[in-house]
Amino acid sequence: MNIILLAPPAAGKGTEAQILTHEYSIPQISTGDLLRSATKKEDALSKEIKSIMEQGKLVSDEIIIELIKNRINEDDCKNGYILDGFPRTIKQAEKYDEMLAEIDNKIDYVFAIDIDKSIASSRITGRRTCPNCNRIYNVNSDNLKPKNKNLCDDCKIELKHRKDDNAETYEKRYNAYLEETAPLIDYYDKKKILYHIDGNINKDNTHKQIKEIID
Ligand SMILES: [Zn+2]
Repeated sequence: MNIILLAPPAAGKGTEAQILTHEYSIPQISTGDLLRSATKKEDALSKEIKSIMEQGKLVSDEIIIELIKNRINEDDCKNGYILDGFPRTIKQAEKYDEMLAEIDNKIDYVFAIDIDKSIASSRITGRRTCPNCNRIYNVNSDNLKPKNKNLCDDCKIELKHRKDDNAETYEKRYNAYLEETAPLIDYYDKKKILYHIDGNINKDNTHKQIKEIID
């Protein structure tokens, strides 16, 4: 079961990936993590990656696909995996498909979690963090707001609001997502493996829709 999740920021992609990981005993593979762990290894490919990164250059699609190929050959991926942060372009999607075909593998589901910009934005602008215990609250959500206005329930100290968590910054990220992902949605839709998921309600509802499709 090979899954790709596409979603704008604050649509609940991270949470859904965690739930799927547990429920189906499949790992989440993040290309960022793969690159980071390559800097700690000594094999030929890792050394090459380290040298590219040290020169401040971008690691090519071919190398990233090689990393993914090695990773999905590992034992814990035998039931499948969730790919995070990849592919981002049609070119990457095509090369990834070629590699999967070579190893007699394929993508089973691409879930696009859709969410209205205003709903996602209110999740972001309401976000507050306790600087002491790092617990995350949301003053715009009945389930996640602190008991006392702007104080951590546990530490009783004032919650922090990150400067980037504002509507304007969010709108830019949301629009960038739409622009970047629209061609991919089309690409996977044509292959009949794309499913639109309504992410506007909550995480349980998002998961329920995905589970119904998988099961
Ligand atoms: Zn706290």
